[in-house]
Amino acid sequence: METPARLTVDLTALREGVPVRLSGALDAAALDIDDLEWVRPAGPLAYAAEVTLLPGDALSVRGRLRLPCVCVCGRCGRDFQAEYAEDGWREDFDVAGLTSLDLTESAREGIILALPSYPVCGEGCKGVCPRCGRNLNEGPCGCAPDGEESPWGALDGLTAQTAENAEERK
Ligand SMILES: [Zn+2]
Ligand SMILES: [Zn+2]
Repeated sequence: METPARLTVDLTALREGVPVRLSGALDAAALDIDDLEWVRPAGPLAYAAEVTLLPGDALSVRGRLRLPCVCVCGRCGRDFQAEYAEDGWREDFDVAGLTSLDLTESAREGIILALPSYPVCGEGCKGVCPRCGRNLNEGPCGCAPDGEESPWGALDGLTAQTAENAEERK
């Protein structure tokens, strides 16, 4: 079965004040989310929502969205999988004169808010060595941090000296 590309609510099937649960999945490719550079959808967008027709031709939508993604880590550059969720998907619509309502755009905007602009594969990601480019998560590289070329070398010396001075003053 193909994953539907649009999420449409049949308003004629709703009765005022009676919430109706909607759940299912939408084809993420059809959502046009792939313009994000570091995050790509890796499966359909899952939704679970409650829609309620309210007095005054209003429709309230309250629900959750989930999207599995493949991301590129902003620190080390490797791909990793993650699932992002929006638990507070909510929007109210004016449905006067309508017989159906398309929620696709609302769902799209809802999940985009939950996607990171700078994904990181893990809190402990060590990134890549700025000098040799090695992924430091796979182990240390050959660039010795205590060498004279190290940008921290001078700073380390300074800190040690300050500590010594403090010791002498006692
Ligand atoms: Zn990483
Ligand atoms: Zn290195």
